[in-house]
Amino acid sequence: MEFDTIAAISTPMGEGAIAIVRLSGDEAVQIADKIFKSPNNKKLDEQPTHTIHYGHLIDPKTEEVVEEVMVSLMRGPKTFTREDVIEINCHGGIVSVNRVLQLVLKNGARLAEPGEFTKRAFLNGRIDLSQAEAVMDLIRAKTDRAMNVALGQMDGKLSKLINQLRQALLETLAQVEVNIDYPEYDDVEEMTVPIMLEKCSWVRDEIEKLLQTSSQGKILREGLSTVILGRPNVGKSSLLNSLVQENKAIVTDVAGTTRDIIEEYVNVRGVPLRLVDTAGIRETEDIVERIGVERSRQVLKEADLILLVLNSAEELSQEDERLFETIENMDFIVVVNKTDLPQKIDLDRVKELAGNRRIVTTSLLQEEGVRELEEAIAALFFEGKIESDDLTYVSNARHIALLHQAQSTIADAIDAAESGVPVDMVQIDVTRTWELLGEIVGDTVQESLINQLFSQFCLGK
Ligand code: GDP
Ligand code: ZN
Repeated sequence: MEFDTIAAISTPMGEGAIAIVRLSGDEAVQIADKIFKSPNNKKLDEQPTHTIHYGHLIDPKTEEVVEEVMVSLMRGPKTFTREDVIEINCHGGIVSVNRVLQLVLKNGARLAEPGEFTKRAFLNGRIDLSQAEAVMDLIRAKTDRAMNVALGQMDGKLSKLINQLRQALLETLAQVEVNIDYPEYDDVEEMTVPIMLEKCSWVRDEIEKLLQTSSQGKILREGLSTVILGRPNVGKSSLLNSLVQENKAIVTDVAGTTRDIIEEYVNVRGVPLRLVDTAGIRETEDIVERIGVERSRQVLKEADLILLVLNSAEELSQEDERLFETIENMDFIVVVNKTDLPQKIDLDRVKELAGNRRIVTTSLLQEEGVRELEEAIAALFFEGKIESDDLTYVSNARHIALLHQAQSTIADAIDAAESGVPVDMVQIDVTRTWELLGEIVGDTVQESLINQLFSQFCLGK
């Protein structure tokens, strides 16, 4: 495939001091040579691939020195896009980086659209669609663990598994072909059905396993939506503060927005907690008062986890009991706070109300019990499942939807085969499953979807 040369500012994650302008395309090296001057006047075009060169950028029109830079030269196909890639490293500063970008654009490159580098990697066959989507996840990852999942997917872990499943389906389809081509062999059908059933069942089980990881995958991606609930003065703000302090807050933006719900992320043992309505807790102390009964019910309903805070130094009130009723069917952890004060709360009654949920006692004032609470949160999240970075998590909503569809078409295939429907009829469901799985890796997707997916990317990726 042939593409024009694109350019964008693409600064690596977590680094502020150095900024990179990246070029990709057939003319990337020529464009760089128009503006780059090394101390020994050597042309980049004559240099070996995957080398770094020190020098200056000079505007060919004015002969003015624009910037002192390091230029990385990487020829395709051993690059992310499979095209020739030039990376110009300059000293941070939005002004100087922009100047470099403008210079590159004036000399023949075109400004890249969001996601266009990744799109090229996909179109040039360097990565498949699920890997491309992982690049996007990586940019948005909120914890190391989420990042590892994205990295695994980028590495092709999910693609590999999906391709194995598709291969198995293809083999059963081949069996059916044999059956249709040689109908005179009566025993072919008898042989085909068990093999088909075995392969299809395996595919079904693997799809099921993948879907089981999806709730965890989704949480890793989006955060465990968490609400801190409790009467005034029990210690909600204190809990929020110690969670935020002990665990580096991940995002604290949304300043100046008019949204009535504010979110804050904290990283609890690799589980990103999305603390909902932290402003409500901080400002008015009362989520209901602040956003209204209806809205707060909605917030509670959407929560993955409730931390219900009680005051150990007071008797359980009717209001406490009502809160238990409200969250009856949800995942919650009870935090009995202020254990440094003389105990008045009836712990047996709390246990009754909590059912099988964890109860953690804390003294937030004396910074006690927060570790136990964090352990309880992590345990709840992993629910005894293997806490492994090796697991192939499915986290992408598009993938999950496709897997659900594939799960139902493969189940149809198995049902049909078991009930003695002719194998060439079963073939239809198997083929459909094969196509659905293909959409995950981008084998069978439409161009419009590809464009839509890549437009969600950040600029410069
Ligand atoms: P909120 O109204 O539920 O947000 O409660 P706050 O976090 O604002 O706490 C109310 C009061 O209880 C504050 O004066 C806190 O310092 C105090 N407090 C919080 N946790 C503890 C604790 O573990 N022990 C004691 N003795 N006081 C606490
Ligand atoms: Zn408070």
